[in-house]
Amino acid sequence: METTQTSKSYLSTRVANLKPSGIRKFFDIVATMKDVISLGIGEPDFTTPLPILEAGVRSLHAGETHYTSNSGKIELRKALTQKWENLYGVSYHPEKEVLISVGGSEALYLACTAILNPGDEVIIPTPCFVAYQSEVLLAGGVPVEVPLKAEDNFDLKPAAIAAAITPRTKAILLGFPNNPTGAVASRETLIEIGKLAEKHDLIVMSDEIYDRLVYGVKHVCFPSLPGMRERTILLGGFSKDYAMTGWRIGFACAPEEILTGMLRVHQYTIMSAPTTAQDAATEALLKAETYVQDMVHEYDRRRQLIVSGFNQLGLKTVEPHGAFYAFPNVSISGMDEDTFANRLLSEERVAMVPGTAFGAGGEGYCRASYATAYEKIEQALERMEKFMRRLG
Ligand code: PMP
Repeated sequence: METTQTSKSYLSTRVANLKPSGIRKFFDIVATMKDVISLGIGEPDFTTPLPILEAGVRSLHAGETHYTSNSGKIELRKALTQKWENLYGVSYHPEKEVLISVGGSEALYLACTAILNPGDEVIIPTPCFVAYQSEVLLAGGVPVEVPLKAEDNFDLKPAAIAAAITPRTKAILLGFPNNPTGAVASRETLIEIGKLAEKHDLIVMSDEIYDRLVYGVKHVCFPSLPGMRERTILLGGFSKDYAMTGWRIGFACAPEEILTGMLRVHQYTIMSAPTTAQDAATEALLKAETYVQDMVHEYDRRRQLIVSGFNQLGLKTVEPHGAFYAFPNVSISGMDEDTFANRLLSEERVAMVPGTAFGAGGEGYCRASYATAYEKIEQALERMEKFMRRLG
């Protein structure tokens, strides 16, 4: 029997138009190769600290194998609000203004879905986490990229944000400490952004998933700034600070009306975040502080190694003060970021992600994660030295 060829797609236009993540594409290639030193992965190399693991196991043995409240276990929500109050002086009502999600990723999806109408614009400083533009698009919004510049240390520029505001702007999506640049936003800058949000009545989605991973500077929690709590959706998670990527726990804190909207979406799509992982996350907040400090100390050692290593190779790197990424400028090689990353991978088996995977502003740069062992970073630098020497 003859089959009829059809060009019809069963996918919705919204999904068909989503671009695959530039990171995934790259790592599909890496996965087929041997002896690669990966500076590409955006997750801690540390295993989750033992007390947290044990709390998960205890939870299972205690028969905690059921759904929890849609918002998440109240013990976890209380421990979380306590932490943000202690660290940053911002307080949320654990019963009405907090939601435990499946990773920060789900929290971001819920935030976009809850606040965006079709055509609403969201200003996104880039380079940024690969999901931001796609989450906005999925929710029917329009991402408006504002490229940050290396000569400004990839710092937020309130004037550039102001210039991107239109009558359709609904929100600004901030991600500091930043993936992929490692930039940390200063209090003064964030206050200026807050003034813009107030003037134009905008919501600020503030992704603070790397809040504890800062080196020699203080993290400024956006909703702790004057007047900002009422217009901010605070997004965060346990993946980075506590080395818990596989447990899939994140959260959102927001004023009751917004949080209730997000909860409605969460309730129909997820029900509740995994129970075992919620118990482990509670333990993380209550018992893992020294582990966090030890990990931060080790990241800092690696950060210094990689930044000075890159600069010595002529790959100019702005000092990153947060997260676990360095963002070297590779244009001295005479290649664009894509060619550089691909040749470095095939010739020396070192993996870095081309900066353009993170949006406009990443041209000429690659992202290197230092969430990998110190010795491996040393080896990667040796291999890169050979590579750079060959280029002349
Ligand atoms: N935000 C940023 C800035 C990230 O880098 C990531 C993970 N790479 C996430 C959110 C999502 O993390 P998770 O879903 O594991 O909490």
